[in-house]
Amino acid sequence: MQARSAFHREHHRTGRVGWLRAAVLGANDGLISTASLVVGVASAQAAPGAILLAASAGLVAGAFSMAAGEYVSVSSQSDAEQADLAKEKQELATDPARERAELAGIYAARGLSPGLAERVADELTAHDALRAHARDELGISDLTRARPLQAALASAAAFTVGAAVPLALAAAVPVRLLPTVVTLSSLVLLAMLGGTAARLGGAPVGVGAARVTLWGAIAMACTAAVGSLFGAAP
Ligand SMILES: [Zn+2]
Repeated sequence: MQARSAFHREHHRTGRVGWLRAAVLGANDGLISTASLVVGVASAQAAPGAILLAASAGLVAGAFSMAAGEYVSVSSQSDAEQADLAKEKQELATDPARERAELAGIYAARGLSPGLAERVADELTAHDALRAHARDELGISDLTRARPLQAALASAAAFTVGAAVPLALAAAVPVRLLPTVVTLSSLVLLAMLGGTAARLGGAPVGVGAARVTLWGAIAMACTAAVGSLFGAAP
């Protein structure tokens, strides 16, 4: 009883974790890129209005870039899945005996005895042949079925949440303090996000936090260097 309920909870967690991890990673992107932008422009001793403008433009550009990239990537995945399903449907209609043997072969390869594999193939074919082939031959389940618009909106929203932090700091903190304040608060947040993503993925928290914090520090150091170079120019 205990073991079964533990399995049940675990099973449901897998579906949610993918979403949460994608959201955390999107927020990471928004935070690193916008914080680096603010640090760079502020290091060039730009006027407060210009820093705010750069941060806002960075947020909008990044959110749309994430949405477009995600939409294109998930759409092409969805196109490929639809094409595979159409082909499978046609094969099932034209050569059901071969498809049945194919399915039984898949279950036998996974470790079922030949007799049981045949029986499973028969029963699943009778129940919903296309679904069985989609899941066990192509690896397409309802859970992983692609939803391009949803993925695009989720990525853009996650990016915006991450980018909102340095944007708000740019609006509130004096320019001479801005590089330090944005760098320190972003590194703390990145460590928390990195640790969360690692925990959701079942990886060591410290390693995950250190990894993303290191990359954030490198990004902000680079843009600070670029900003200082331009700021020093006459
Ligand atoms: Zn098939």
